[in-house]
Amino acid sequence: MIDFHSHLDLYPDPAAIVEQCRKDGTYVLSVTTTPSAWLGTKRLALNAPRIRTALGLHPQIAHERIRELSLFDTLIANTAYVGEIGLEGGSEWRPHFKTQLLAFDHIIKASERAGGKVLSIHSRKAETEVLDRLEAHPRCGTPVLHWFTGSEKQLIRAIEIGCWFSVGPAMLKSASGRALAALMPKDRVLTETDGPFGTLKRKLLNPADAALAIPSLAGVWGMTEGDVTGSLRMALKRMGELASTYQSSACPKTPEL
Ligand code: MN
Repeated sequence: MIDFHSHLDLYPDPAAIVEQCRKDGTYVLSVTTTPSAWLGTKRLALNAPRIRTALGLHPQIAHERIRELSLFDTLIANTAYVGEIGLEGGSEWRPHFKTQLLAFDHIIKASERAGGKVLSIHSRKAETEVLDRLEAHPRCGTPVLHWFTGSEKQLIRAIEIGCWFSVGPAMLKSASGRALAALMPKDRVLTETDGPFGTLKRKLLNPADAALAIPSLAGVWGMTEGDVTGSLRMALKRMGELASTYQSSACPKTPEL
């Protein structure tokens, strides 16, 4: 099982979720929403070798935590993974869009200066603004657009820029989500849950539930579930190789925090 976008620290009992992932051997990209959450979230996974903890600043709270960008800069050398970052264009967050842009631009440039990172990116209702920045900073690393809900035209642009995608059962339950997934390059797709925010039939998704995306992907790609699983594993392997180049070229060995 691969959950490439999960908020482990925001579950009611994070330690229990981590233990379950460890037992199941679930691979998790554990994203954070503020730089100050990174260290504690990373500590949660000390005994879980298949969990990676990404350093993030979520666009929906960027205006409240913009001061933490300096902490972001202090921590970035310690990880190959950045997220959740991005832009949120929904009306509730539009008043803070300028602050979001400030944060996102800062993080993209910091990732570029660091030699590249794996970036888990939120782009809801702000796809064009996100893609403009990724295009302007091709050395920022490997962008993974999480739960992408833009247009097909925007998707095609994202593919041309080199984006990867993480898709989950919540996204794939809609016809529009499945239509987008059908167009995504299979070698650049990973599964996710966005738990505990991602739900299915009002039930909170756990990281292992990322596997619920597999039958939908098999349907839209015209493949067997076994072949989809194989494709996901290959993509994860390649992602791990990319991440290790970022870690080693950009980050001198720093003591484990
Ligand atoms: Mn998220």
